[in-house]
Amino acid sequence: MSCDFLARAVPGVQKLSPYVPGKPVDELARELGLAVEDIVKLASNENPLGPSAAVIAAVQAALPEITRYPDGNGFALKQALAQTFGVAPSQLTLGNGSNDVLELIARAFLAPGLNAVFSQHAFAVYPLVTQAVGAEGRSVPALDWGHDLPGMLEACDANTRVVFIANPNNPTGTWFDHAALERFMQQISEHVLVVLDEAYTEYSDAGELPNGLDYLAQYPNLVVTRTFSKAYGLAALRIGYAASSVDVADVLNRVRQPFNANSLALAAAVAALTDVDYLERSRALNRAGMQQLETGFSELGLSWITSRGNFIAVDLQQPAAPIYQALLAEGVIVRPVAAYEMPTFLRVSIGLPAENQRLLAALRKVLSA
Ligand SMILES: *Cc1c(COP(=O)(O)O)cnc(C)c1O
Repeated sequence: MSCDFLARAVPGVQKLSPYVPGKPVDELARELGLAVEDIVKLASNENPLGPSAAVIAAVQAALPEITRYPDGNGFALKQALAQTFGVAPSQLTLGNGSNDVLELIARAFLAPGLNAVFSQHAFAVYPLVTQAVGAEGRSVPALDWGHDLPGMLEACDANTRVVFIANPNNPTGTWFDHAALERFMQQISEHVLVVLDEAYTEYSDAGELPNGLDYLAQYPNLVVTRTFSKAYGLAALRIGYAASSVDVADVLNRVRQPFNANSLALAAAVAALTDVDYLERSRALNRAGMQQLETGFSELGLSWITSRGNFIAVDLQQPAAPIYQALLAEGVIVRPVAAYEMPTFLRVSIGLPAENQRLLAALRKVLSA
């Protein structure tokens, strides 16, 4: 006799579709019988530079201590973040990646009968964490692929507890400016938590996007989330954080698992914060790679959505799934985004110049086949 455990799961979980990550390099290498070195992965917005030497040294120095639990309060990293960004350690909540922080927010503030508002084409984790706790997710139609902030305001009602906003957004790369954020914060009820996800903020030029941290003092309902997974190059270690009012941080730290941020990640993040040169090289590489891909796409007659992230959504003007498969056969992994209601697009992460070139050559071959 078997039991239908999906039917026994709580209602919000029954309706979940699992997050689909980028295809791992090892998996494709096995399938194609190729060496791992022959595969190019531009599918998960990872940093193509490899880890900074300072990070490797910090992780090595922390290794002998892995028999001990990590510092559950993340004292050293909070101090370093506080010094770097001018916030108080008591405003910070550390997470096992910033995805962990997004989930903490949902667990602390959402429940059946309540709702969260986000945009069409927005990061898939927002609906995921919302539904997992049985709350309603309200997807607001996008405007020119970007967030329609006034529309999102209108979608809020008395049961709205959280609004998730990504600036820039993944997978579209779209962004909004200071004035748009200020208008939004001034109009939204102070009882609604506004989660401003700044996972890619390091890639834009200074002043182009609002810095959410600048608004924390003015808006106690603002929560800014950031990550070490992208520009800082620590995706595998899983470390991110939220900066908020002290009151919100207190709530989030109550639902947090005591040791959600591991000791290697904590040590690596402190080192990454101080390695200003690595961050600058990441930004420069990204800028040049973005230009390289835009030029290549335009030579192929393709259009794209202008992006302020480390990725770009390119429009193939035909179903993207077969092209994605054909690129895999060429040893190039990108990200299909049909689940984001973008069935003719592929999202391409910015790689090293040679990786970008491999993608462009494979795309040319596949599109002319
Ligand atoms: C990559 C990404 C994150 C960060 O995820 P981590 O859990 O920190 O690795 C958060 N938000 C968006 C929009 C992202 O694309």
